[in-house]
Amino acid sequence: MIVVLKHGVSPEKRDQLIAWLENLGLRIHVSDGDYQTVLGLIGDVSVVDMDLVASLEIVDTVKLVSEPFKCCNRQFHPDDLIVEVGSVRIGGGNFAMIAGPCSVETEEQIVAVAKAVKASGAQLLRGGAFKPRTSPYDFQGLKGTGIELLKIARAETGLPIVTEVMSAHDLPLFEDVDVIQIGARNMQNFDLLREAGKLGRPILLKRGMANTLKELLMSAEYIMASGNERVILCERGIRTFSDYTRNTLDLSAVSVLHELTHLPVIVDPSHATGVARYVPPMALAAAAAGADGLIIEVHNDPMHALCDGAQSLRPEEYDALAKKIRAVREAIR
Ligand code: PEP
Ligand code: MN
Repeated sequence: MIVVLKHGVSPEKRDQLIAWLENLGLRIHVSDGDYQTVLGLIGDVSVVDMDLVASLEIVDTVKLVSEPFKCCNRQFHPDDLIVEVGSVRIGGGNFAMIAGPCSVETEEQIVAVAKAVKASGAQLLRGGAFKPRTSPYDFQGLKGTGIELLKIARAETGLPIVTEVMSAHDLPLFEDVDVIQIGARNMQNFDLLREAGKLGRPILLKRGMANTLKELLMSAEYIMASGNERVILCERGIRTFSDYTRNTLDLSAVSVLHELTHLPVIVDPSHATGVARYVPPMALAAAAAGADGLIIEVHNDPMHALCDGAQSLRPEEYDALAKKIRAVREAIR
């Protein structure tokens, strides 16, 4: 249930109403916008007499929210959420360029790629240390060492780091990671969502390859219900009957999610297509569609990459793409 307060209600009267609702056993999410305050009621709202609340002098309107996702519901929070990572802002008109290799391989590699993508305008560095691989015989990532190498690249460039956690077990290793990624394969690992939520760091949540948008939002809800509001959603392609691309990029997800939720929505054209030459057009399309950012795989030697070389851009290709992305952003402003 949503309770919209009238403009200019005093803080005392607002707090009295909140205390009364909390006494009924509800959790209240308060969203203070420039023009209105919205109270989002979470819990068993059948205990609330809607007509009584609507009749209160300070209340403008009362609405029932039928969707099962509450904390991430745009109705609870009309303004876009801006996730801050150091000095980088994501969402609410702030576009984030995230780039880096699929996997961290060596110090030289990650530092070289970090410097290159920074020079092209990237604001965050990605790199997998724990890799979810289909085959147990493939490179599984450098794990804790990979995170340490990311920190070296961060120290050299100033770029905050984004890296994937696969198991709640490993979370202590992520305490100094700027953005924790939960990948497609773990989107519905509910224990991991809950535990990662408790860390209080921004979470990049990728859509599962066979998951609906409602399921993605319910997974965001797990993180947010653990007390962490800073969630960034990522469309990375879903599995359909595409035969020439790794997945099918569902770009309409950007528009639909922007309507349903206040959380930033970014796009990963690398895993969506799986083919480097298809990454630039899909990245530009995502920027044009209003995405809040792009996460793109870049490798200084794709031919010898230990993971996802075929979809990785070379630094010079990323540089050319970054210029075009800025032009598209300018054009749609
Ligand atoms: C990744 O970003 O490295 C990754 C494994 O992505 P996804 O979870 O989208 O497959
Ligand atoms: Mn990858």
